Amino acid sequence: MTLLVQKFGGTSVGDAQRIRAVADHIARTIKAGNQVVAVVSAMGRSTDDLLRLASEVSSVRPAREEDMLLTTGERISMALVCMALAELGVKAASFTGSQAGIITDSDHTRAKILEIRPDRLQEALDEGLVPVVAGFQGVSRERNITTLGRGGSDVTAVALAAALHADACEIYTDVTGVFSADPRVVPQAHKISKVGFEEMLEMAATGGRVLMLRSVEYARNHHVPLHVRSSFTWEPGTWVVEEDEDMEHAVVTAVTHDTSEAKVTVGAVPDRPGVAAQLFRALADVGLNLDMIVQNTAENGTTDISFTVPKVNLAEAVATCEGLQAEIGAGSVSFDDTMARLSLIGAGMKSHPGVTAKMFEVLAALGVNIEMISTSSIRISCVVREDVVEEAMRALHHAFELDV
Ligand code: ASP
Ligand code: MG
Repeated sequence: MTLLVQKFGGTSVGDAQRIRAVADHIARTIKAGNQVVAVVSAMGRSTDDLLRLASEVSSVRPAREEDMLLTTGERISMALVCMALAELGVKAASFTGSQAGIITDSDHTRAKILEIRPDRLQEALDEGLVPVVAGFQGVSRERNITTLGRGGSDVTAVALAAALHADACEIYTDVTGVFSADPRVVPQAHKISKVGFEEMLEMAATGGRVLMLRSVEYARNHHVPLHVRSSFTWEPGTWVVEEDEDMEHAVVTAVTHDTSEAKVTVGAVPDRPGVAAQLFRALADVGLNLDMIVQNTAENGTTDISFTVPKVNLAEAVATCEGLQAEIGAGSVSFDDTMARLSLIGAGMKSHPGVTAKMFEVLAALGVNIEMISTSSIRISCVVREDVVEEAMRALHHAFELDV
């Protein structure tokens, strides 16, 4: 029998009618002869609402208590989905992350899964029940309730699919799949029917918001095929699968953009061994996740180092650099929060020369200045001004023949 993990995001369970639609879909999947484990997110924007409530109550937010608060959102969904299933005559039982055997470390608000003990879910399945699991949460070895970070229900679903050896993990959301670009920016964007894990990882890391990055990593590492699809139209969506030799690779699969980052530049840094290590150690120690690090050739014994950082961490990054400025003898610390990152992703780039040249030509023809560049074997990213990024995306999408 086919075992499917079906994950329903916040909009998919946004109100009573949506919850009944989800239950109906689960019931139909069961009737078609499959086994289902459902994973649910909190209804609509209720996680944000809970966070807002917390800040109205207090200016301090102990992480353990934040986790306890936020996990209630998913609990509401799981119980309601089970009730809707009961009305349809489908036997189901809800499980918190802890009851589902999701054991995490103690890093509250962004815990990592250490281990899954799926025996309770397996027993429920064996008894013919549909387990409905609260996403985004687990329990630490110290027996505290933890959460897996925003968007973490995707990780719950993939991790359970791996632990239960499910045939696939279906991620139901409010879009019909993964697109060749954000359709709100590029109306000509098309739905991708099948994409490899490596490409999907690059897309998730550079602004494609459909899947949480960690869930794609987990799926790749544990060989879980993902199917991203809509809970509004129920049509087939995008399969994210292991690359195989007979997958025909387009040179470019997708164009992504990200306006959530800012650039920090540490100017006139002495060009000697150890300076970069000192700077980036300090940034790592405050827990900052940096990207696109660029250093210029030294002139007169000094150089500039720039990097990008999520805008929400900008103040902390600048303060950390300023704190070290005297010690490392840097000339200046400056920042820019009006930049955007534009990326081309495609596994076919490995075997097709000239993609970078063509990208730069397209940008040049638009008069777009490139401020930073970084690449992987299947991605090229450029930092450009925020106000030209959308026009540049449409031009690139067209030039690389991705338009429908
Ligand atoms: N409810 C959580 C959030 O909004 C987890 C999730 O939806 O995946 O981030
Ligand atoms: Mg989500």
